[in-house]
Amino acid sequence: MRVPAAATLVLLMSQVLVSMPRVQAQLAPPKTDALSKLQAAQSAAACSATESSSCAQAASKLMPLILGDSPMIENLRRLTDEIGGRVTGTPEMAKAVQWGIAGFRAAGVDVHTEKYSLPVTWKEGATRLTVLAPGTNGSPLRAVSEGWGPATPPAGIEANVIDIGTGTDADFARAGNLKGAILLAHNEIGSSWPDLFNEYMRPPAIIARAVKDGAAAILWTGARERLLLYRHTNSLAGEIDKIPQAVVAREDALKLARLVQANPGKVRAKLVMPNEIGGPVEQENVVGEIRGYEKPDEVVILGAHLDSWELGTGALDNGCNAALVIEAARAIKATGLLPKRTIRFILFSGEEQGTIGSFAYVKSHAAELDKIRGVIIFDSGSGRVPGYSLGGRRDTEAGLQQILKPLASWGVTEHTADASFGTDNFDFLLEGVPTFVANNEIANYLANYHAASDTFDKVDQRELKLNTVIAALTAWGIADRAEPLGKRLSRAELDALVKDTGLDQQMKLLGYWEQWQTGARGRKP
Ligand SMILES: [Zn+2]
Repeated sequence: MRVPAAATLVLLMSQVLVSMPRVQAQLAPPKTDALSKLQAAQSAAACSATESSSCAQAASKLMPLILGDSPMIENLRRLTDEIGGRVTGTPEMAKAVQWGIAGFRAAGVDVHTEKYSLPVTWKEGATRLTVLAPGTNGSPLRAVSEGWGPATPPAGIEANVIDIGTGTDADFARAGNLKGAILLAHNEIGSSWPDLFNEYMRPPAIIARAVKDGAAAILWTGARERLLLYRHTNSLAGEIDKIPQAVVAREDALKLARLVQANPGKVRAKLVMPNEIGGPVEQENVVGEIRGYEKPDEVVILGAHLDSWELGTGALDNGCNAALVIEAARAIKATGLLPKRTIRFILFSGEEQGTIGSFAYVKSHAAELDKIRGVIIFDSGSGRVPGYSLGGRRDTEAGLQQILKPLASWGVTEHTADASFGTDNFDFLLEGVPTFVANNEIANYLANYHAASDTFDKVDQRELKLNTVIAALTAWGIADRAEPLGKRLSRAELDALVKDTGLDQQMKLLGYWEQWQTGARGRKP
């Protein structure tokens, strides 16, 4: 997933945005031959205001490598069509890890994996939802379980259906006694980044209220039309959610709402969700590396999550960008240029369950965080990239503009200073590391979000290649410039940042705030 902080944040939180317009084996040093030394010397000029030749040189070499014949699209086809959907903790995820290792090896890039513990595994059983109303007894409705939702009792839950509208205080007051009921909550049709943002920000308060009042389950009206089902989760730390929840196909949910309205107090539903829950299990992030020749202990990370939901095959979210990361590594390696600093290419897992893999990486690399010079994340499909989200800061912007200068005609210049939860930069951001999240145009991302329709054919191959050039040049530029692009922020600076951007309100709503306050997550107070 990726949930960019949206313009609606201002409305939602009455908060003015400041600006919106481990233990791992160190790899052996690479063999350097006369040629690579010469090339290193040639690239000594860095990607800064005064010395821009390194980025220009890198861009001119990267472009034909990426835009010409390359293995990226075939890699993506194998990941999506042959391995398919890959939920963290499943055999498909293990195959995807092997795919990532093989991809880096074929690119000639050193690769290893780093293990972490996934607290819980989850698999949907045979979800069944039927409506028991006058005239329609036993009529089935199309529904899927919330990801990481609890199982119902084996016989299911049969209860009265109460329509709670969009879950405002007034809606709940009107709904009356919720005890033992199945709640039906409404959603607008989602078509924009702010809509998606609200799909994550609204449920926590509704769930808390439902649990407090003893409701039995929640049905969420699908936010996509034409019966499209998608895997949504409201559990953002890898834990099993507090109450059974299902997304009901929009048209079926609207029918249910009409039945409830026409037959007050007489509509019952039966929800059977035999979800399979297990764990904990070990999972792995895949890490490719090109070692820097001058400051190898300073690191730039280019990352994307490799895991996906499984109704579709995880092409837009996020197979295309996993393939992009491998391709960027291949192309940088193939230029024959060596960067001053080390570039790590990371395929995270556990992202869909609450950025668990990247959080684990941050924890196990705590001692290195002072020397991570930038974290670049791609996680929003294959729409055009007009710029990056800078994670609540502007100090990195001027340097970034210099780095991207060779692509001036592409217009990758509209960087935003928003900060958000929802993808793998989150824990790096909370540690004060400069982060850059590609601000893809939404294109067809949301229409296929976490749905059966998120398949290979949805990926814009041409745009994906262009985005790969942008990603590779950004990583190169941060790695090869003379000075660090931005400093690591102190806790005091981060306290100001989370307040100014409204990230504090996001963290409070989503349950991250206490961890941040105690130092369990983010830079210690
Ligand atoms: Zn994603």
